Amino acid sequence: MLKNLKMNDYNHLCYFTIPSFEEYISVTHCFTSRIGGVSDGDNTSLNLSFKTGDTAEKVRENYERVCNALNIPMENLVLSDQVHGDRIKIVSSEDRGKGILMNSDIYEIDALITNEKNVALVTLYADCVPIFILDPKRNVIALAHAGWKGTVLKIGAKVINRMKEEFSTDPKDCIVAIGPSIGNCCYEVDQIVIDEFNKYFTNLSKFVISKGDNKYMLDLWKANKLALEEIGVLARNITVSNICTQCNHDILFSHRADKGKTGRMAGILQLR
Ligand SMILES: [Zn+2]
Repeated sequence: MLKNLKMNDYNHLCYFTIPSFEEYISVTHCFTSRIGGVSDGDNTSLNLSFKTGDTAEKVRENYERVCNALNIPMENLVLSDQVHGDRIKIVSSEDRGKGILMNSDIYEIDALITNEKNVALVTLYADCVPIFILDPKRNVIALAHAGWKGTVLKIGAKVINRMKEEFSTDPKDCIVAIGPSIGNCCYEVDQIVIDEFNKYFTNLSKFVISKGDNKYMLDLWKANKLALEEIGVLARNITVSNICTQCNHDILFSHRADKGKTGRMAGILQLR
């Protein structure tokens, strides 16, 4: 399958960038890999979570390396607190450092939005879907974490609706990328998950394949894309990375491939 992101190497640290975002000099962004950090064991090596049994020193060193690669100060980073919900927070320069360099009052937040420069949004992943959003007209950015629950809740669409309320974003202007995450090649789910999708989506045949025996292959990329198109995001403005974390778990953390014991990669997005 065609991979739609660009792989970059900075001092042996590997990270992905999105070509449609690289066209805008107003943003700095990346999706990290597991290559190029200092963590060991299950977190080998570029783990960016403080909650996966790693030491805070190593995680901070990993962030430092990523910030060097992106040429942004570590002080700019603001970390989400993901709980597979659909709560969204608009952050500002006052939130810089929270969750990484200092204690945070950001709780149970799966999506971050900002319209301020030098505020670097950070969300964490190991199979769940990262949704990168840029409104280049109003200069607003957002990052949303969508596992199957966030996908059911249409968190990406809710984020853009919030951008519309707060900053007059028009969905037609939005540039979106669905980053590396578990693909329909690997993501088998049972009936309980499908029942939830049936409550909120009408077109399951477009992203669910039945395998019989109450087992299904679920395409989270397509489900998220459909939810975004439903509110007016243009199909041509949505990049789907086509990079499956489980298939590529030699270079990416995968919760399923590593049977729950694994580190986390980050999606990072900043206006400059
Ligand atoms: Zn796969």
